[in-house]
Amino acid sequence: MGKKRESKRIKQFDDIEQVNQWYLANTNEKQARKHKRKLQIVCSTLKISPESLIQDIPPEQQIIKIKEILAKFVRAVKEGKLVHTHNNKQKHITDFNEYETALKLFCGHFHHVPVAKLMPSSETRSYVVEMSDNEITTFFAFLSTFKDDRYIQLASLQHEIFCRFHALLNWDVNGIEIGNDEIDGVKIEWAIIPKFYEPKQKKHFEKLILNPHILRMLKNMKKGEIIVPIDEQEEFSAKYHNALRKAYAKLGFIELRKKYALGTDQWYWTNKPTHCLRKSGSAQALRRCKYDYSLVAGMGWSDEKILRNTYAQPKIMLNQNICEYCNPSAVKQKNERFCCFEHYLTYRHSGNKAKKQETKEQLLEKLAKWTNNEL
Ligand SMILES: [Zn+2]
Repeated sequence: MGKKRESKRIKQFDDIEQVNQWYLANTNEKQARKHKRKLQIVCSTLKISPESLIQDIPPEQQIIKIKEILAKFVRAVKEGKLVHTHNNKQKHITDFNEYETALKLFCGHFHHVPVAKLMPSSETRSYVVEMSDNEITTFFAFLSTFKDDRYIQLASLQHEIFCRFHALLNWDVNGIEIGNDEIDGVKIEWAIIPKFYEPKQKKHFEKLILNPHILRMLKNMKKGEIIVPIDEQEEFSAKYHNALRKAYAKLGFIELRKKYALGTDQWYWTNKPTHCLRKSGSAQALRRCKYDYSLVAGMGWSDEKILRNTYAQPKIMLNQNICEYCNPSAVKQKNERFCCFEHYLTYRHSGNKAKKQETKEQLLEKLAKWTNNEL
């Protein structure tokens, strides 16, 4: 199918009255568009019209109709008859849940449809995407070579607070509180965003900025204004995503312009470039607090299960007690690890030095003092 015919068919589908009505009723445009394309794929594959899904069907029969359509769709896909909206898409679908959702939402706009799930939930793919300390350094060094400062600002902030990219685009760089303390005579400093809004979860999270470089950058950023103006966001995001892909290619995670199969980590780096930062940043946060899953989940995930499933690897569990500050390993580790956020901060603010251990003489002196006091 040529590009022209593709867009003609898309337009024809969009012009169908019921489709358009349903589309306009959803205020979340991006989501509405996604559902519309999924519905189109089902209809094109089965060579049926969207009207036929709802017309002359008693409301109580609607769910049975959806069930039938889904079963036919699954069969057609298995037989290799899938008709995509665009020619360059993969011919293979493993997850039918989005199609079920689109069908239910469309029919549900006209008739009541029960919410119970029809298709089994696909296995949640857990993509283990994370960068090591060295890779993080290379990654940020590369991003800072771009003229647009916002690349490095967005990437380093997202990695530090592991939010969704959209939440960061909505954030007006406000509500930041700076914290100070002293541990073992070392002055430490950090920032808290007590109410960082995640639109997808419709929830506020408390975010911490611990890395002193990122804290300094944040202090210099303009407050009270979103980082990328709304009318620029779409164009900016496309360029920014490309820059991220280039960085991942530089790190050897992917090859540019190569197509990867769904379910592979390379697919994830290529197709979800900002979400990778959320994941890698979460992994980094876990390394900074002795894998305290509930603490890190509480700072941005709906529950700790996904973090536990993705990042609790036996290798990691073995050396859990290492802390660069209070219990450094004799052998240099691939990634720095800390027992708590406080020790991460203390280590950073003392010039990356471990806590001074008391010498034998100092300990003896202490002991002598205690003994004298007791006498
Ligand atoms: Zn420690």
